[in-house]
Amino acid sequence: MEECSQVINQEKQKQAKEYQNKKILFKIVGAALFLSYFLILIFCNFSFTIKEKILHFIDLEWQVIALYIFFVLTAYNLISLPLEFYTSYTFEHKYHFSTQTVKDWFKDYLKSYLLSLSLAVPIMEGIYWAIRIFPLNWYLIVSIFTIFLTVLLSYLSPIWLTPLFFKLKKIEEDNELVQRLIRLCNRINTKVKGVYEINFSSKTTKANAYLSGLGNTRRIVIADNLLENFTLDEAEVVFAHELGHQVHKDLIKGIFWINLMYLGAFYFTSLILKKFSFYLRYELSDISNFPVFALSMVVIIFLWGIPLNFYSRKREWNADKFALKITQKVDAFITSMAKFTNRDLADAYPYPLIEFLFYTHPSISRRINYAQNFKKKIG
Ligand SMILES: [Zn+2]
Repeated sequence: MEECSQVINQEKQKQAKEYQNKKILFKIVGAALFLSYFLILIFCNFSFTIKEKILHFIDLEWQVIALYIFFVLTAYNLISLPLEFYTSYTFEHKYHFSTQTVKDWFKDYLKSYLLSLSLAVPIMEGIYWAIRIFPLNWYLIVSIFTIFLTVLLSYLSPIWLTPLFFKLKKIEEDNELVQRLIRLCNRINTKVKGVYEINFSSKTTKANAYLSGLGNTRRIVIADNLLENFTLDEAEVVFAHELGHQVHKDLIKGIFWINLMYLGAFYFTSLILKKFSFYLRYELSDISNFPVFALSMVVIIFLWGIPLNFYSRKREWNADKFALKITQKVDAFITSMAKFTNRDLADAYPYPLIEFLFYTHPSISRRINYAQNFKKKIG
């Protein structure tokens, strides 16, 4: 019987702990920066001043909102650029994960900035329109709209969002892995619309696989790094885990819970916005209170994230259980987990509190232990 500590490289675990602890530190610094930026905008009255300055040039409400959002988000992107560059470029190179050049990194940074702006401006226009027209129950209107948006973005994700940063290539059916996967699907009478390879290697050495899309864009995506470094058995068991998510309809369930989270966040934000607008003597639909809106949403979503992560870990357990049951390849499951942790420096033994608060997946040591117990059971 292989013990968990035998498959996990203990030397690598020391490095993993150090790597992951630093990443937590960057997250805390990032959160502090975000909070300070928006608190300063509110309490130093900068937010109001920015809007007043914009009013010197234009006075149509929608133009004021567009320019305000553009200015506030652009300034934030510039302020957080050094931290962003250090954490996702310098630091990732230090650990030899990143395969990007500086130029490519900046290209991606610019693309995600333009993408976030092109989403944020119309979304905020819509929200402030709803606040103007339905000051009492705008949160309901916005929540209904959010359902459409999350469904649309999930649908478009593999055909529109992902291709902005990566190349997705359908793996042909004559491939041996795909043959195995089709056999797996036939056994449980389910269909996968396509298996796609994603060129993660253009940016990182890390490996991953995930389920993406809705309806006719639904697919299982496997990183090229995984296909290259994992054995056929290991790739099959990783695929079976993703298939588990599909069979359990986890994507749709996830969309449901995220929308419920948004409904709660918009509702509490509507109460907070009302209080603050009164306190700061802004009109409820005044774009100057955007920092209050942003802070409230982010804090509430962070808090909601704790029970959602708990639920996510439960879904991951079920997907693991599913993968082990249909493939019966327990050893391949264990070695694939060990590869994730040894190659990508995942912390196999995180502090329980950190795991409870932030982990969307059970820790690798728990997943391996579970598989070892499963092996004992099937004898
Ligand atoms: Zn999963």
